Amino acid sequence: MYNKKGGYMKTIRDFNLNNKKVLIRVDFNVPIKDGVIKDDTRIKESLETIKYAIDNNSKVILLSHLGRIKEESDKEKNNLLPVSKRLSELLKKEVIFIDETRGKKLEKAINDMNNGDVLLIQNTRYEDLDGKLESSNNQELGQYWASLGDIFINDAFGTSHRAHASNVGIASHLPSGIGFLIEKELNNIVPSINNPLHPFTIIMGGSKVSDKIGVIENLIDKCDYLLIGGGMAYTFLKSIGKNIGKSLCEDEYLDYCKKLLGNTEKIILPVDHIVSDSVESNNYSVKEIIEEDDIALDIGPKTIELFQKYLKLSKQIIWNGPVGMFEKDIYAFGTKSLCEVFNDNQRIIVGGGDTASAIVNLGYKDKVTHISTGGGASLELLEGKELPGIKIIGE
Ligand code: AMP
Repeated sequence: MYNKKGGYMKTIRDFNLNNKKVLIRVDFNVPIKDGVIKDDTRIKESLETIKYAIDNNSKVILLSHLGRIKEESDKEKNNLLPVSKRLSELLKKEVIFIDETRGKKLEKAINDMNNGDVLLIQNTRYEDLDGKLESSNNQELGQYWASLGDIFINDAFGTSHRAHASNVGIASHLPSGIGFLIEKELNNIVPSINNPLHPFTIIMGGSKVSDKIGVIENLIDKCDYLLIGGGMAYTFLKSIGKNIGKSLCEDEYLDYCKKLLGNTEKIILPVDHIVSDSVESNNYSVKEIIEEDDIALDIGPKTIELFQKYLKLSKQIIWNGPVGMFEKDIYAFGTKSLCEVFNDNQRIIVGGGDTASAIVNLGYKDKVTHISTGGGASLELLEGKELPGIKIIGE
């Protein structure tokens, strides 16, 4: 496939994997509580690439991080052993798990592998305990991991916006390509930015304006409408003199919001709100004018109707951030109502993280074109940035 500058970026299909040791960086960063995996979506998303490598007669060596390792006690809860068991169930074959990130035991296990075998190395971030070797892309560590294989495939989209030893480090020392998951992410997200279908509407929500400025700056000229809901809408509303009560606000961004609203007519803000007197309370009401003690936690019915009008006429929608505090059912109605008007003729791209879980939990997964598996990574792509874990492969 082609990279941003029109050069060719290798994918796993471009290599002869037969009899090769193929290092694959996957994203097995799944939620685990007391040794039990709460959501195995990310493991399932990696299967296509892993199965392809098995079917092509290679020795498959998997690397992934899991959580953060800041002190010794973080190791136990971020051990990849439960992941290796689940992977083995999904693949219906043995997965050799090595409870080490380097050393003789690991090297011997790799040397003993047969074609078609799968081996998982312990959490790459165990290497962070002694000087953040993984997260700071320590050269020696990247080189060491590269020495364990013949080919490197990066398929961890969720960490591709970070330069770590297990992606950029390894790719610096081996012939490298991307796997099917990253290819799918790029094939869906990149055209929606570079060749958007019009009318093109962005839905933006979530808690903070500060997190979304990069996306606004990159896409405001390309889109036709920017619908802003969620907590971030209240900094915009306050900046034009509206009362927002105790709703979320980043005062340091008031000037930015006011200026932006003065420069464009594309931004559509909520006209009514679901408010409560506290986040914990289950009492709520609909208001057009927010009062002193109110916290706005979802968009109101008139806003839903207004936003739906723009969504219905759109050919492309990019969604980043829920428009209400969707984790609580009573404030998920706005987010859900927007999904209801999606139709099959639209290109609908959903950023990862909270927006992805909102749409999956509300049952609308099949109504959208693409749900990204990486929150931070998809945000950076939408900001127009090059992701280091992918850039190095296209070079
Ligand atoms: P973000 O990570 O910035 O996309 O923010 C997602 C979070 O924003 C979710 O946890 C939502 O509960 C929260 N959120 C959305 N709307 C509101 C709101 N009106 N007030 C407070 N939090 C909100």
